Amino acid sequence: MPDAADILRLESLQVHFPIQAGLFARVLGRPAGAVRAVDGIDLNVGRGEIVALVGESGSGKTTVGRVITKLAQPTGGKLLFEGHDMTSVQGTSALRPYRRRVQMIFQDAYQSLNPRHTVFDIVAEPLRSLRLVENGKQLVERVGQALASAGLNPPGDFFSRFPHELSGGQRQRVVIAGALAVKPELIVADEPVSMLDVSIRAQILQVLVDLRDKHNMALLFITHDLPLAWLIADRIAVLYLGKLVEIGSADEITFNPRHPYTVALRNATPQIGANAGRGELPALQGEVPSATRVPNGCRFHPRCPLAFDRCRQEEPPIEVGPKHLAACWLAN
Ligand code: SF4
Repeated sequence: MPDAADILRLESLQVHFPIQAGLFARVLGRPAGAVRAVDGIDLNVGRGEIVALVGESGSGKTTVGRVITKLAQPTGGKLLFEGHDMTSVQGTSALRPYRRRVQMIFQDAYQSLNPRHTVFDIVAEPLRSLRLVENGKQLVERVGQALASAGLNPPGDFFSRFPHELSGGQRQRVVIAGALAVKPELIVADEPVSMLDVSIRAQILQVLVDLRDKHNMALLFITHDLPLAWLIADRIAVLYLGKLVEIGSADEITFNPRHPYTVALRNATPQIGANAGRGELPALQGEVPSATRVPNGCRFHPRCPLAFDRCRQEEPPIEVGPKHLAACWLAN
């Protein structure tokens, strides 16, 4: 069960990418725009808690993960780790302690593994670069432990293999082992199983849950797949066009969604049943609009079958109750 203390807190986090104005726009004096990839989100993750961040592509969820792992810099708001403000901390040596404690697992294991390096070197690399081992014996021990924790047994059998000699599931386990080797307290996993077969997915999810149970490690699980989020997470946060539109326990969000967008996501996945709550809503049409053209009012209104005048004029705050929040005028 999650510890009450937050390990991570995002406060009004914002990532806007400026757009260079074209010659025509400059001549007409039109202001340059911005891609509002993340547009003011508040989110906390407790120690030992699994939080799923769910949204379609273009919702900004990967950008949130990149900010947390310091691969992208926010343009506003705060990133707090154990209460310490990490927002503007930059530079290799200043970030070294943080990088040991916060690791990221990427979606495409094949892309994130160097094809010329053996499994041993891949998993040993963060231990070497963060200077976490004193000698070769310790290095072998730590690499072996990480591979075993990721379910690659016996670990020694994998030391000298190259990524192309592994199955898709084994490659993703190597990626997980690389993150685990430094014994992080928070892992950000960006679509870690979306490229794997269904049977392998369950095994990888189990590895992540076991890590939380054994080491009280927190996990931010980024996915477009609501049923997957429900399977693994304690809480689910739903992101739409750079804003959180609903947050609550995994059961509440999945079986009692209050926001029409979450209902539409749920309805698109028949395996968790489409007829609880507002199951009568039509399926979601089209894709998330460009983050350069965020609509006024409720940003979901162009796709919302329930939209009415107020939705086009005023943006609803995210609220309902202490344990279930939704940004919709009809949420109550
Ligand atoms: Fe739909 Fe209006 Fe609710 Fe937005 S506020 S989700 S447009 S009903």
